[in-house]
Amino acid sequence: MSNIVAIVGRPNVGKSTLFNRLLERREAIVDSTAGVTRDRHYGKSDWNGVDFTVIDTGGYEVNTEDVFQEEISKQVQLAIDEATSIIFMVNVAEGLTDTDREIFEMLRRANKPFYIVVNKVDSAKDELHATEFYQLGIEKYYTISSASGSGTGELLDDVVNEFPTSDYQDPFEGLPKITIAGRPNVGKSTLTNALLDVERNIVTDIAGTTRDSIETLYNKFGHEFVLVDTAGMRRKAKVKEDLEFYSVMRSIRSIEYSDVVIIMVDATLGWESQDMNIFGLAQKNRKGIVILVNKWDLVEKETNTTRDFENQIKSKIGQFTDIPILFVSALTKQRILKAVEVAMEVYQNRAKKIKTSKLNEVMLPVFEQTPPPAIKGKYIKIKYCVQLPTPSPQFVFFCNLPQYVKEPYKRFTENQLRKQFGFTGVPIEVYFRQK
Ligand code: GDP
Ligand code: GDP
Repeated sequence: MSNIVAIVGRPNVGKSTLFNRLLERREAIVDSTAGVTRDRHYGKSDWNGVDFTVIDTGGYEVNTEDVFQEEISKQVQLAIDEATSIIFMVNVAEGLTDTDREIFEMLRRANKPFYIVVNKVDSAKDELHATEFYQLGIEKYYTISSASGSGTGELLDDVVNEFPTSDYQDPFEGLPKITIAGRPNVGKSTLTNALLDVERNIVTDIAGTTRDSIETLYNKFGHEFVLVDTAGMRRKAKVKEDLEFYSVMRSIRSIEYSDVVIIMVDATLGWESQDMNIFGLAQKNRKGIVILVNKWDLVEKETNTTRDFENQIKSKIGQFTDIPILFVSALTKQRILKAVEVAMEVYQNRAKKIKTSKLNEVMLPVFEQTPPPAIKGKYIKIKYCVQLPTPSPQFVFFCNLPQYVKEPYKRFTENQLRKQFGFTGVPIEVYFRQK
């Protein structure tokens, strides 16, 4: 279970500068997934070997010149609800403002670790000015320069060390975890209720958080899995999901906690940017994906309606298109059991482990027949391959000149893996390494 660090604060204090710094550190080490453009407000980082998720809550400000007090408190509330710990950033150049005081009050009342971070402390002179923040009656603040990175190490040491440890015991250990994600009103609750005519809700405390999650065991027609809803439909009213950002943020934890994400799309609206955001989240976290086009009962059908809709979605989701798309109605229950079946298949695909002998037996002849193009007269020879013991499929191909294997050949390799072994609905990673 991932820890979430949220960065809050007034506009222009330097939140996104810090956010980018935290993400870049990692991206320099881990090669980013091809074809996935980076989310500007959400990403993964790590410090001292501890992984965490970073959210820049200010990232979705529509117009930074004119951010209302109300908007900022919503962001802070959201961070309090969703994050493990909160970085509260202030700006030494502007000093302590009324808005800072209000944010501080909200955080002080909340039961979450938070860190007061005075940013833009670029020189020793600024250190002196930072003392003004003791007026908040606090024992400690951190001075950093997001621009240069100075001071961030000490801050991250403390943030990471103080992540809550958990003695969380998963009551459903080993069972597939599935979450239903999608925009407000797409039909998530309707589908959940249709699937669970006998409800058995178990409220648990997910590791490292004080938030409840709702996990419901589904055990019918030969399938057993757990529906995860950490966003908590019952809490919906607390922060109105009027902005895209809020509903995306609320999906993050459920998605990270699940094996398969069912993305529901409204047939009457089509595939929109918010659907893309959810898709990106699932893909980036290497979760299994099933797309359900819901409210299909409302669509007037002609011969090619289904195909056209499917093509429209596939043309928008990028390179990873080996994904099941089903047309359903949660209301009339049309094809919802099919949807369950397909989600379980995707779960199996994601958990699939190909034996090394089998993998080499199948893939080496493929490479023999279609080798990577020679570069500067040098031939690339792929010698053997293994699947890593990771939760989602990742493969390493050992060869003499990995640096010469380019993106198109990596895609070719991925497509061959899909074709030969069947990984529908599952993001897979392909690495070429020196041997
Ligand atoms: P946000 O609105 O809180 O996300 O703020 P940004 O990260 O966009 O930063 C606002 C401005 O402050 C930008 O012009 C940054 O270059 C600048 N800035 C951010 N961090 C620092 C810093 O540590 N020192 C200085 N001098 N400028 C900074
Ligand atoms: P949520 O916000 O995603 O949980 O969406 P709800 O499940 O609350 O559904 C929002 C509205 O869409 C409700 O009025 C539902 O009755 C309606 N709805 C949900 N699924 C369908 C469907 O398949 N067909 C039709 N016609 N309406 C649906």
